[in-house]
Amino acid sequence: MDSDEQASMQPFRGNPNQDRPPRILILGGTSEASRLAARLAGRTDLITISSLAGRLSQPTRPAGIVRIGGFGGVTGLTWYLLKEKINVVIDATHPFATRISSNAEMACKITNVPLISFERRPWKPLEQDRWLHAPDMQAAASLVNHQHRRVFLSIGRQELGAFSDCEDAWFLIRAIDEPQCPLPPRSKLILERGPFTLDHELNLLRTESIGYVVSKNSGGAATYSKIEASRILGIPIVMIDRPLKHTTPTVAHLDEVLLRVEEFLEAES
Ligand code: NAP
Repeated sequence: MDSDEQASMQPFRGNPNQDRPPRILILGGTSEASRLAARLAGRTDLITISSLAGRLSQPTRPAGIVRIGGFGGVTGLTWYLLKEKINVVIDATHPFATRISSNAEMACKITNVPLISFERRPWKPLEQDRWLHAPDMQAAASLVNHQHRRVFLSIGRQELGAFSDCEDAWFLIRAIDEPQCPLPPRSKLILERGPFTLDHELNLLRTESIGYVVSKNSGGAATYSKIEASRILGIPIVMIDRPLKHTTPTVAHLDEVLLRVEEFLEAES
């Protein structure tokens, strides 16, 4: 970054584009982000841009303007916020997407753009649930490998590498797109996109004689049926605890996010 660019990245105050509609950036890739975009994109007094990482071959496009691909770290995102004259950033990324959230926190601090962190609450175990907590994927891998059982990996495809060397267990792996890393030697891959019904999950766990489920504590309704199905069948779940994403307080409800947006925009006008 040259000195002119650095000078233009100084924090600013007030609406940077007072004669134009305020511009909202949603960092997305989740069903919450899509619901939020659907609510905001219909408004003529705002411009809403949704940002996707571009991981999926056929992403579900949110309503309104969509941009796809990384920004280029904190510097790239900072630059983007200034160039696009963004008034408010809403981080609605997945609870396990840590890098983009910490980049957003940093870029918003640098540019003085308000940040709203929209994050669904984590699931909590019910009395009948049999959860084993794992701090990360590696810990989950060694835990299930030593059980010598049939294990359902419902963790997406990005962190499957942690299980590549697990030779003692058999794995049923579910992902939306083909994984890029080596899979465990004893495994079966199914490519499917949720949400899944409870019947679907019950049928899958029964048919494949699953003895353990590995899941991130993603929260939300879209993938909760596997938790319910495991409960009904008495299958233990190795639950990966949520990582620390950033220090910004989070908002869990869409209506509260919309309220916060209004507050920020009113404060700027
Ligand atoms: P991550 O580790 O936090 O981010 C890695 C890099 O991907 C970021 O540094 C950024 O690149 C880019 N990126 C991530 N989200 C982006 C977005 N919404 N728009 C533009 N660039 C983005 O994220 P991840 O875990 O790989 O997840 C990627 C996306 O998938 C996220 O948007 C997330 O909401 C969604 N997702 C993740 C999970 C999960 O379990 N991790 C599950 C469901 C959906 P630059 O540094 O170049 O800007």
